[in-house]
Amino acid sequence: MHEFSLATSVVDFLQRLSKEQGMSRIDAIFLEIGEMTHVDPRQLRYSLKMVSQGTVAERSKVYIKRSGILLRCRRCGKESRLKLMDAITDYSLKCAACGSADVDIDRGRELVLRRIRGSK
Ligand SMILES: [Zn+2]
Repeated sequence: MHEFSLATSVVDFLQRLSKEQGMSRIDAIFLEIGEMTHVDPRQLRYSLKMVSQGTVAERSKVYIKRSGILLRCRRCGKESRLKLMDAITDYSLKCAACGSADVDIDRGRELVLRRIRGSK
């Protein structure tokens, strides 16, 4: 259900965008999903297929990438990226720049639309 509503907002956005840019169809979309979110890529793919029927994104290829965890250091202010598996295996949520463990974990936006390829 959750994936379905995400897919709906993606397709809504694509429709608005294609209108603005005069694109007749969307060939590919590149999505990124935060690793700590509960979005199932397969469900999302399926939902996109359903929702995009009859729209400009109907035959669009969908590329989904899982993005890592983003840490924001409270000491030096730098951001470091981390893979979920690394964080689980060594429990080290530390800033990559200064080594401080005083970090905020940014779970990241649930879904990011990275790139779109369309045709006029
Ligand atoms: Zn730091």
